[in-house]
Amino acid sequence: MDIKTVATRILSTGYVCDHCLGRQFAQLLSGYSNDERGNIVRTALAMDLENEEGTKSIDESNFSDIRFRKRKSPDAELKKPKDCSVCKGIFTKINALAKRAVEETEDFEYNTFQIGTTPTEELIAIEEKLWETAGTDFCETIKTEINREVGKVFSKKAGKIVDLKNPDMVILFDLKTNTVRLTIAPLYIFGKYKKLAKIPQTRLMCYDCRGLGCKKCDFKGKIHETSVQELIAEPLLRSTEGVDTSFHGAGREDIDVLCLGGRNFVIEVVEPKKRTISLKRLETSVNKKNKGVIEISNLEFADKNKVVDVKSAKAKKTYKVIVKTDSTVKKTSLKKLKELVTLIKQQTPTRVVHRRADIIRKRSVYSLEYKYVDKTHVELVIQTEAGLYIKELVSGDEGRSRPSVSALLGVKAMVENLEVVGFED
Ligand SMILES: [Zn+2]
Ligand SMILES: [Zn+2]
Repeated sequence: MDIKTVATRILSTGYVCDHCLGRQFAQLLSGYSNDERGNIVRTALAMDLENEEGTKSIDESNFSDIRFRKRKSPDAELKKPKDCSVCKGIFTKINALAKRAVEETEDFEYNTFQIGTTPTEELIAIEEKLWETAGTDFCETIKTEINREVGKVFSKKAGKIVDLKNPDMVILFDLKTNTVRLTIAPLYIFGKYKKLAKIPQTRLMCYDCRGLGCKKCDFKGKIHETSVQELIAEPLLRSTEGVDTSFHGAGREDIDVLCLGGRNFVIEVVEPKKRTISLKRLETSVNKKNKGVIEISNLEFADKNKVVDVKSAKAKKTYKVIVKTDSTVKKTSLKKLKELVTLIKQQTPTRVVHRRADIIRKRSVYSLEYKYVDKTHVELVIQTEAGLYIKELVSGDEGRSRPSVSALLGVKAMVENLEVVGFED
C-alpha cells in the first residue's frame, strides 16, 4: 500500500500530530525523526489537496498550520484541537518529562542512563486501533518514541550518555500513575581478602527473627558481631551512600577457619549515590581499622559478570591443617597419608546434609605434606580441588568420605585448626 493512502486513512481519524503520523512510517529512511517524517507526509498530502487531487476525507484540522495558495485555508472554521487524538499531546510534554527526570536523578552520581515508559491502557488501545485502520507495516510503538525523544532531551540537559545494555540508571515514567521510578544499577567492586580472625565471611541473619531483632540475638538481627562483608561494607556504604551490600566470595571458609591466602570476592553496593570513590582509600581504611582481623587488596571496579566469574571460578586451594588424633600415632605410620593424594569420594557431610542434596562428590587432592607435631598431632599442608570438604577428609565422617586420615591411620582424627593458605586459578 502506498504511503499517501496509509497517511490519508490516519489523518481521516481526527487530528494526528507529526510525531504520531511519522511514527507509522518510522522504519522508512534513516536520519529522520518521526516528526520530520510526519511533516513531510502531511505537506505532500496538502499539496495534493491544493492540486485538487487529494481526498476530502482527511480531517481538515490536520492542515490548520498549512498556508494554501489557491485553496481557502481551513483554519478559520476548523481550529486545531488542543491535543493529538493519538498521543493526547504527550509529545508536547517531552521537555517537561526530561526536566522532571533531571530533578529526580539529581542526587545520584552516574554516567549512563536509559529511559523507560509504561503507557496507559488508553494509549495502547488507541495505537492498536490506528494500526488496524491504517494497515501500516513500518511503524514503531509509541513507547519507543517517547523513550527516545525524552532520552535525547534528557541527555543534553543532564549531560549523560544513553546506554541501552548496561545503564547505571534506568528512569521509568509510569504514565498510568504519573510517577517516576528510578532503578540504580549496583556498584560492583572486586578484590581479594584475607581472614585473620575467626569471623564469618558474610552477615548471618538470626534464624529466629530473620533479621528483625529479637531477645535471642540481642536485637541485632544477626548471629555474629561482624563479618568480612560488614567490615568492608561499613566504610563502603559511607562513601557511596548506598543502601545495602551483597557479598559474593569465590567459595567460603567456615567461621572457625582462617584464610591466609587472598580469596577473590565481589562486593555489590545496592543503590549507590556515588560511584566515583577512591578504592585505595577504601583499602587503607579497612586494613587499618581491622588489623589482625581482615586484610583486603587488589581492589578494582567490576561489573555483574565478574560476580559470575568469581562464583564459578574453580581455584585450587591450599590448606594448613592441624589434625588431632584420639590415640597415639607413630611417626613412621604417617607416610600412609600420601595415599590421600588421589580422587576422594565424599558423600554430603552429615553437618550440612539437612540443607543440601545427599550425593557423592569426587574431588582431587593434588598434593600433601605432613609434619609430625607430637604423638597426637600432625600438621598437613594439602592442595585440593575446589569443593573438597577438609574436615571430612580428616575425620572420614563415619565412612562417608573415602579415603580419610582416620581410615588411613586407624585412629579417630579431627581437625583442630584449619587455615586456607593459598589460592591458585
Ligand atoms: Zn500525537
Ligand atoms: Zn533474632
